[in-house]
Amino acid sequence: MSSKLVNVAEIFGEDVFNDTVMQERLPKKVYKKLKETIEEGKELDLATADVIAHEMKEWAIEKGATHYTHWFQPLTGFTAEKHDSFISAPLPSGKVLMSFSGKELIKGEPDASSFPSGGLRATFEARGYTAWDCTSPAFVRKDAAGAILCIPTAFCSYTGEALDEKTPLLRSMEAVNKEALRLIRLFGNTTSKKVTPSVGPEQEYFLVDADKFLQRKDLIYTGRTLFGAMPPKGQELDDHYFGSIRQKIAAFMKDVNEELWKLGVAAKTQHNEVAPAQHELAPIYAEANIAVDHNQIVMKTLKKVACQHGMKCLLHEKPFAGVNGSGKHNNWSITTDDGINLLDPGKTPHENIQFLLVLACILKAVDTHADLLRESAADPGNDHRLGANEAPPAIVSIFLGEQLQDVVEQLISTGEATHSIKGGKLETGVTTLPDLTKDATDRNRTSPFAFTGNKFEFRMVGSRESIAGPNVVLNTIVAEAFSEACDILEKAEDFNGAVHDLIKTCLTEHQRIIFNGNGYSEEWVAEAERRGLPNLKSMVEAIPSLTTEKAVALFEKFNVFTKAELESRVEIKYENYSKAINIEAKAMIDIAAKQIIPAVIRYTRSLADTVLSVKEAGADASVQAELLSEVSELLKEAKKALKALEAVTDKAAEKEEGKEQAEFFYYHVIPAMAELRAPVDALEMKVDKEIWPMPSYGDLLFEV
Ligand code: ADP
Ligand code: MG
Repeated sequence: MSSKLVNVAEIFGEDVFNDTVMQERLPKKVYKKLKETIEEGKELDLATADVIAHEMKEWAIEKGATHYTHWFQPLTGFTAEKHDSFISAPLPSGKVLMSFSGKELIKGEPDASSFPSGGLRATFEARGYTAWDCTSPAFVRKDAAGAILCIPTAFCSYTGEALDEKTPLLRSMEAVNKEALRLIRLFGNTTSKKVTPSVGPEQEYFLVDADKFLQRKDLIYTGRTLFGAMPPKGQELDDHYFGSIRQKIAAFMKDVNEELWKLGVAAKTQHNEVAPAQHELAPIYAEANIAVDHNQIVMKTLKKVACQHGMKCLLHEKPFAGVNGSGKHNNWSITTDDGINLLDPGKTPHENIQFLLVLACILKAVDTHADLLRESAADPGNDHRLGANEAPPAIVSIFLGEQLQDVVEQLISTGEATHSIKGGKLETGVTTLPDLTKDATDRNRTSPFAFTGNKFEFRMVGSRESIAGPNVVLNTIVAEAFSEACDILEKAEDFNGAVHDLIKTCLTEHQRIIFNGNGYSEEWVAEAERRGLPNLKSMVEAIPSLTTEKAVALFEKFNVFTKAELESRVEIKYENYSKAINIEAKAMIDIAAKQIIPAVIRYTRSLADTVLSVKEAGADASVQAELLSEVSELLKEAKKALKALEAVTDKAAEKEEGKEQAEFFYYHVIPAMAELRAPVDALEMKVDKEIWPMPSYGDLLFEV
C-alpha cells in the first residue's frame, strides 16, 4: 500500500517485457525474427529462442525475479502456474548460476494429470505441454512469493488437443483474420495485412469486509451467500450507482490501478455499480488474446489488493440474492493492422457498404449461433443472473439503435438505403453550458448484444469466468459468416449488384434476431418464442449446444475445435457444474446443521425460559409465547428441508458423472436448496441478532 502519488506514464508497463524492452535488449536480428513470429506467425528457431530467453531472464532478475512460470489457463476457469527457480545445479565452488534456456522458454511440461481434460487424456498418458504464446507479453508479478517471471502459454495434450482457453482463442483469431482479409480485399483494400478482434471487458465485483467474510462459511466455500434475508435497505434508492467513492474504496482502487498499470493493463474507468458495495473496473480495449490475459490479471489483482486493504473481493456472479449480480461486458470489434475498425459505420452508415455487409454478417452469425453464444456465457453462478430481472435475459438478441435500425429497415423494404438519421445537438436549455453533440443512438441496457457506436457489447458474460470462451465463439461465428459471404462475392460478375442483394437477403432472413425493446419484459419472452429464438435458461440446458451438428461443422471448418475437443469440453462443463452445486449443497447442509439450527435452538430455549419467568412474575407472556411458537414452527420446517437436501445430495453422488448427474443437480438439488433457504431466511428475520451465527446482508453490504 502506498500513499505516494505516482506518475502513470512512468510506471506504465514497467514490469512487462514489452516491445520497448525487447527493442532495447535484443540484438537487432533477434528482435526482427521475434516480431515476425508475433506478427506473421513465422516459426521461431531454438538459437533465437535461446537469446530471447537469456535477455528475458536478465531483465526479470533485475526486477527481483527468482522464479519463472509458464502461466496457463486450464479449463478450471482460473490460471495455473508451476514455479521453477532460475538456479542451475550448484557449481564445484558451491555457488549457483542463474540460467534459462530457449527450450525452457518455449516449452514446459507441467504434470497435467490433475487438470480437467474431459477424457482427452487418460491418466496413464498424462503428458501435457505448455507452449509459449509470444503474442502476449511476459511480465514480472510481485507478491508474497517474491517476484516471478510469468510467461503466457497455451496448454495442449501430448497429441496436440487443446486443454485450455487460449489455444482455441488463438485459433479463432486466425480464422477471423483470414476471412476478414478476404472480405476487405473485395472492397479494394490491398494494404491491410492483418485483422484482429479487439476486446474491452468491463469487470464488475463486490467488496466486503474481510473479518465479516471469514464469519461466513458460504462465502468462503462457494463465493456466494447461500442464506441471507434482505436488509431493510437494498438498492432501491439507486444512491450507490456512480455515487462518490468512499475513501477506503478509493485507496483500494488507487493500489489496484497502480499494480495494473505496472503490468501494462490500461485500467481506465472505475465507478460504483448499481448494488451497494458493487464496483466496476474497465481497461482500454486490447487485442483479444491480450485482453483475455489481462482480464485474468485484473481479477487476480482485485483479489490480492482487497486482502491488503482488509477486504475481500467477490467475483461471483450472484453473491447476494435479491441484489444485482455482477457481469462482464465484453466489448468486441475487429480492426485492421492499419487502424481501420470494420465496425465503424462512419457518419453516413447508409453509404458505407462494407460496414453494412459486416453488420449483415454479424446479424446472421448471431442468429444462426445464438445457442452457442448463450452457452459461452454459461457457468453455475451466471444461472442466477441471466434471465433474472436485472441482467440480460437468457435469450440472445441484438440491439441496433435508432440509426442503424432505420438503415436496416430501408434496406429490407426497398433494397436501398438513402439516408441516415443524424445525432444532432443536445439542448440543455442553459446558455452557459456548451452545446453537446448527441450520439445518433441511445443505449439499451437490457440487450444482451448491443451495438454501441463502433463495437458490439456482449453483456451476458459472467463476472467470474474467463472471457476466452465468449470471444472464441464470436470470432468463429463471424469468420463463418464472412467466409460464406466471400464465397458468393468472389464469384460475382457484378460485385455491386451482388453485394446489395446479399446484404438485403441476409438482413431479411435474420431480422428476427433484432430486438430494440425491453429485454426484461415478459412480452419479450413470448415474442422471442414466436420468433423461434432459443431461450436456454440454465447452464445444463445450454451445454448441449456445443456438440450439435451445426456447431461441430462450424468449429471443425475453421480448425477451432475438433469434435473430440468439443465432446471433452461438454464433459468438463457438466463435471464443473456438478462439482459447483455439490459444494454449495454440502456447504448449506454444514452451515444449517452446525451453525443455524443450533443457534435457533439456543434462542428457543431462552424464549421458553423467558415465557416461564414472565408468567411466574404474573405478567402477560403471550408475545414471547407467540414468537416461540413461530420460531419453533420455522425450525421444524428448516430441519425437514435439511433432511431432504441431505438425501437428494447423497442421491446425486450415485448418478453417473456427466450429463445425468448435472441434470440431477439442476432439477433436484437446486430446488431442495431453495426449500431449505426459505425457512432459514424467515428465521433470520425473527431470531435475536446477537444469536444469529453470521453477519447479515446489511452488515456485509453497508459496512464495508
Ligand atoms: P461505453 O460507454 O459504450 O460502455 P466505454 O468507452 O465506456 O464505452 O468503453 C467500454 C469498454 O469498451 C472499454 O473497455 C473500452 O476500452 C472498450 N472499447 C471501446 N471501443 C472499443 C472497440 N472499438 N473495440 C472493443 N472495445 C472497445
Ligand atoms: Mg459499457
